[in-house]
Amino acid sequence: MSLVSRLACLFNRHDPLRRDVKWDGVTYVGECRHCGTTIIRMSRRKWRKHIPADPEADSSVG
Ligand SMILES: [Zn+2]
Repeated sequence: MSLVSRLACLFNRHDPLRRDVKWDGVTYVGECRHCGTTIIRMSRRKWRKHIPADPEADSSVG
């Protein structure tokens, strides 16, 4: 494990495990090879942490 890579993760710059990358119908989803978090592809070679839909977001409706 590379300390530099871990630091990149702290800055939300992740690298996916290529073999685990999947197309979910909207975007590519994978797992960071360094920190293991779920990440999504923003653009070519740019991956960001996947943030699940916030269940509390609906509470503001109505
Ligand atoms: Zn990472």
